[in-house]
Amino acid sequence: MAQPTAPGQTASVRTTHYFPENLPTSIRHFINGEFVDSLGGATFDVLDPVSNQTYATAAAGQKEDIDLAVRAATDAFRNGPWPRMLPRARARVLNRIADAIEAQDARLAELECFDTGLPITQALGQAQRAAENFRFFADLIVAQTDDAFSVPGRQLNYVNRKPVGVAGLITPWNTPFMLESWKLAPALASGCTVVLKPAEFTPLSASLWAEIFRDAGVPEGVFNLVNGLGEEAGDALVKHPGVPLISFTGETTTGQTIYRNCAANLKGMSMELGGKSPAVVFADADLDAAIDSTLFGVFSLNGERCTAGSRILVERSIYDDFCERYAARAAHIVVGDPHDPATEVGALVHPEHYDKVMSYVEIGKGEGRLLAGGGRPEGLPDWLAGGNYVSPTVFADVAPSARIFQEEIFGPVVAITPFDTEEEALALANGVKYGLAAYIWTSTLERAHRFAQSVDSGMVWLNSHNVRDLRTPFGGVKASGLGHEGGYRSIDFYTEQQAVHITLGEVHTARFGAH
Ligand code: NAD
Repeated sequence: MAQPTAPGQTASVRTTHYFPENLPTSIRHFINGEFVDSLGGATFDVLDPVSNQTYATAAAGQKEDIDLAVRAATDAFRNGPWPRMLPRARARVLNRIADAIEAQDARLAELECFDTGLPITQALGQAQRAAENFRFFADLIVAQTDDAFSVPGRQLNYVNRKPVGVAGLITPWNTPFMLESWKLAPALASGCTVVLKPAEFTPLSASLWAEIFRDAGVPEGVFNLVNGLGEEAGDALVKHPGVPLISFTGETTTGQTIYRNCAANLKGMSMELGGKSPAVVFADADLDAAIDSTLFGVFSLNGERCTAGSRILVERSIYDDFCERYAARAAHIVVGDPHDPATEVGALVHPEHYDKVMSYVEIGKGEGRLLAGGGRPEGLPDWLAGGNYVSPTVFADVAPSARIFQEEIFGPVVAITPFDTEEEALALANGVKYGLAAYIWTSTLERAHRFAQSVDSGMVWLNSHNVRDLRTPFGGVKASGLGHEGGYRSIDFYTEQQAVHITLGEVHTARFGAH
């Protein structure tokens, strides 16, 4: 095995750990318009990923806390104004939410950066995207039209759209605030009331929603937040009979458990799950652009990105050149203090996740040729030494049967594999259980579309990456998800479409019992 080409660069402008001002030491639930502790007083510790020290305790929601939150959300749904407001009135509130997020994007970014270990510049982008999600759904509900079907002179049929009820929202720890906005914005836009269960690794930024919503005019009981562990608070939310739909983003195995648990009550489900997305680079691609994009695609957001292009398939004639240039760049990625604007890769979210990623790095050393990284970055200053740091790691010559080719690592680790023909590239791209995203790099128009239409993925980017128009469907196929959200599809998920039929003339009825 070759050794890494060079140690990762480290950012080290600061000399001590950055703590945001006014950091809370306790993180509470928000139920029926009030911050509260768990009824039984249970808590769990929250660590920051740079020091791995406990900086706060969070209320650990149990079944009785979920019951309380669902009761508040049900009352707000049945008796409160929110589901009955005109779309324009709800849209005004959503726009005020977007304004408030934008106004505090720097604060949001620093809290998110502190809690998740994401580089501050990338956390800022995610905060702005959260605001955009609210603005987008404000526009969408005002422009919403519904189907009407006329049978001339005989019948009129139209769709009466209604919010489903209390939506259960369960979210992961990667870009937590943005991913929460992705569910909260369409659920609230649709007139649902909600119970949010954020990820236990990163509960900090979710508390900000309470004040943002209250100040924007969201009535009490419409938004409820219960912190806690997945197996406790999450499980209770999924099994609660008063919650008719669950929107879940997280690991595929968790999605399978939730799917089973939703069956008892036949709940509506939307599942955004894991990925192992291919980036396919043909010899006729713009190689400079492909290298920039495939580096960003797997190393941005610390590699903790569901749509990460974590497998790169490269046509053999450019394979050696690609690997060499790619590894040289990966070795110079700046790893360090998440709060430093120069940092490109920060600290992984939690020691448990760090151990998982590191175990794959070790597995990879037996499965591929190590070209960069392969462990902790060298040269970290002492005050970062306790953090969850993994050097951007590149393995080449990875066989399709390798675990690092097949399994989601969710960290800064990439597998590169050569191919000879388009058919082989397609078989490699499709040869995993996941199907979230695919990235195709070629200058041949026909091939780009041919490949895009054949690849097993919910989303494809041609000669680009991850910039997404909010109107488009978002979601995966195979083990990457169930159902698509995005644009009107999200509104469809959070609403019932009731068909109303009106006969315009005499009603023709067979007169049973009349003869
Ligand atoms: P996870 O599945 O461990 O946890 C996600 C959420 O589910 C957390 O809030 C957790 O507390 C909760 N949970 C866990 N067990 C539960 C249970 N039995 N019942 C109810 N809730 C439960 O996922 P994670 O580690 O937080 O996030 C990383 C995963 O999320 C990766 O697999 C990533 O690909 C995926 N992800 C997918 C998308 C997408 O859009 N497809 C986006 C982001 C992340």
